[in-house]
Amino acid sequence: MTDKSLTLMPEDIQRIMGKDAQRNNILAARMVAEVVKTTLGPKGMDKMLVSPTGEIIVTNDGVTILDEMQIEHPAAKMMVEIAKTQESEVGDGTTTAVMIAGKLLENAEKLLDKKIHPTVITKGYRLAAEKSQEILKEVALRITSDNEDVLRQVAMTAMTGKGAEDSRERFADIIVRAVKQVQEDGKIDIENIKIEKSKGDGIKDTELISGVIIDKERVSQDMPKKVNGAKIALIDFPLELRNPEITTKISISTPDQLQSFLHEEERVIKDMIEKVKLSGANVLFCQKGIDDFAQYLLAKEEIYACRRVAKSDMEKISKATRGRIVSNLSELTPFELGDSEKVESVKHGEDYFTHIGGCKNPKALTILIHGGTSHVIDEIERALKDGLGDVICSLESGLVVPGGGAIEMELAKRLREFSQELSGREQLAIEEFASALEFIPSTLAENAGVDPIDVLTELKSRHDAGEKSAGLNLFTNKVENVLEARIIEPLKIKIQAISSASEVAIMILRIDDVIASNTKKGSMKNVGPGMGMSGMSPLD
Ligand code: ADP
Ligand code: MG
Repeated sequence: MTDKSLTLMPEDIQRIMGKDAQRNNILAARMVAEVVKTTLGPKGMDKMLVSPTGEIIVTNDGVTILDEMQIEHPAAKMMVEIAKTQESEVGDGTTTAVMIAGKLLENAEKLLDKKIHPTVITKGYRLAAEKSQEILKEVALRITSDNEDVLRQVAMTAMTGKGAEDSRERFADIIVRAVKQVQEDGKIDIENIKIEKSKGDGIKDTELISGVIIDKERVSQDMPKKVNGAKIALIDFPLELRNPEITTKISISTPDQLQSFLHEEERVIKDMIEKVKLSGANVLFCQKGIDDFAQYLLAKEEIYACRRVAKSDMEKISKATRGRIVSNLSELTPFELGDSEKVESVKHGEDYFTHIGGCKNPKALTILIHGGTSHVIDEIERALKDGLGDVICSLESGLVVPGGGAIEMELAKRLREFSQELSGREQLAIEEFASALEFIPSTLAENAGVDPIDVLTELKSRHDAGEKSAGLNLFTNKVENVLEARIIEPLKIKIQAISSASEVAIMILRIDDVIASNTKKGSMKNVGPGMGMSGMSPLD
């Protein structure tokens, strides 16, 4: 590089190498973990996020926070990926996963300071991660779908501290009932459970309804309010002529011409509705618009119709009623129609909905969330999804673990024992891995205003004495047997969190050279720590 005549890369490329690259990346990753840290656990705080358009989200959910923050630093982005993977694989445990990764990197930094080479650290971390998976499976508790009480506890643990507090028991009951109803040969298709939101009543009025509910009212009051023995047509094209996106100029010179033009339009619409009627449909869900004349004709034929139904809702209705979504009216035959016992217009809170009940697929369910404001409802929805995700994973794998930091403490203890079997510097890395796991109970304590050092000391001594389920119970703020305190989580949360956290930590540790092209405006500065995450202060 000193030879001026030799240039490998364009001049505006920024490059950070060696220790600087490592430290930068570690710092950025730690900052991400630091952001979500205060939200961990039932006593964790919420964050208010304001989007550029002024939209407000109040949440405690790790992945939602990170997703909304528009993080740009490349290593920090890798941390956000952990949360996203956790969300898609398990649906819960996002904060835990990100925090473990952050702590693994922070502890690795200590080892780097002691002049331990990154490859030694990554090897130790890899060994520890593999061993953790083994230990986790060994200490997990087996359950079956008959253990409804345990499943309810899993749902409640997932929802503790998430705004659903007063109605936790009711929600847990809804979740377990819903999951058990859609379960088929040990498999659970979460797609069968739709979540719909209604503003107006209180959270306590949230209910489980069989069938599909969509937030659309019939297009005309002249249509029937209720249809029994529904034959449902699902179409994804508009029942209207004028495409508002295209302006067409038509020159007309005589009144006759205008008349015939209008007649022609009417004829096309009439034709369309005739085809719907001929198929035998008495209910129509249209993904696009339905114009006034078409509405009038549909009402005359006593067909219940909704327009601009969301694509995801169309798919849910199709699945529930076994109807096919058609893209061309000539395809609409009686065979494409869906079936349900009834379709009716119902009012919840301030809004009108359409309820498709008694569907051909009896597994179709809707959880209708009620709540006073949209912010509350959205946070309840996230809590419910965490609960659903956790109950589903617990049932699918049939394995659960004690929460409240108990499992992390037991893992840490056994990893330390395991490290004794190894020699050399990897042992140190495994010990750091173990102490990264202890960061979970210690943060649970800290966030609840309980002294983390006292808690860790007590937890350690009780686990050493063989109390595998000793954890921090935040209902009482004491170290207790958390299984008895009904704080239970699915094993999969921990399996996934530890594996993705260690993978990313290892990946970040192996980087010693960051080469950033400057094609994207502002990207140069994003490779430094703290940049690209506006409003965040560096760590102390
Ligand atoms: P995550 O995004 O990782 O799921 P949460 O904010 O949901 O983060 O917190 C999960 C942690 O809170 C888990 O470690 C769980 O064991 C713990 N937890 C839940 N309920 C309790 C409780 N009542 N007492 C102590 N810890 C609890
Ligand atoms: Mg959670």
